[in-house]
Amino acid sequence: MRKWLATPLALAGLLLVASGTARTVDSAQDLHEAVASQPAAVTEAAVTSGNGWSLLTSYNVYSINPNQQYTVTFESGAVAERQAPYLLRALHELNSLGVKLSIGGVETVEEGKCPPRGHIHFTERYRPLGKAGFSQGIPCHDTTNKSAWGGIVKIDSEYDDGSWTLPSYGRWNVNVHEMLHALGMGHANSDRDGDGKVEDFECPATSYGNTPIMCSPNGGYKTEANKGRLVGPDEEGIKTALANFGKETP
Ligand SMILES: [Zn+2]
Repeated sequence: MRKWLATPLALAGLLLVASGTARTVDSAQDLHEAVASQPAAVTEAAVTSGNGWSLLTSYNVYSINPNQQYTVTFESGAVAERQAPYLLRALHELNSLGVKLSIGGVETVEEGKCPPRGHIHFTERYRPLGKAGFSQGIPCHDTTNKSAWGGIVKIDSEYDDGSWTLPSYGRWNVNVHEMLHALGMGHANSDRDGDGKVEDFECPATSYGNTPIMCSPNGGYKTEANKGRLVGPDEEGIKTALANFGKETP
């Protein structure tokens, strides 16, 4: 007999829950409270591009997390020795803009996989894009909020084995360019001449002719004093990416 009694009681309980739920959205006052407590309704949309900068939204990066410690790591001590010095000027600038970024040590990351959260992993590879003299930077994203997670950098090994010669400023700028890709920054290029195409070097320039370090295929200051430093539009992009954190994304 107990078995038979248990079933109608359980059913009654389910029915009570259902009718109770229906009643809470019935009253106008409850509805008003429900709407007011929705935080998404008051959030601004993330800004994803500007004059001479863009975010890699194609890789789902819409912001840089100002609370995240980002750390550059290297596949070996030799790679750290060769690649880290070129990053230091930009690193200090990024810190002063509010990006928590530092130089770390050696770690192993499985080929084709994202590094641990916050890490930007530097490697050396022969022609990672299949083109002589080209390096590659790839961002990963935080799937919970589409902020920069960290990423992977593949510096063309030709720069350091003597088979491809870059000017000194180019050698500095390329490392920063790829590191910023791994942080989710895209190219500075846009269709400035209105011919329907986004072309190589189609980037804004300072009165001295300096293009953003994120200009494609290359950009940045060409002087000893300023090589490896961010240009104005790069800074604007970074500041906006930080301010985007917590804003609405598609
Ligand atoms: Zn690039």
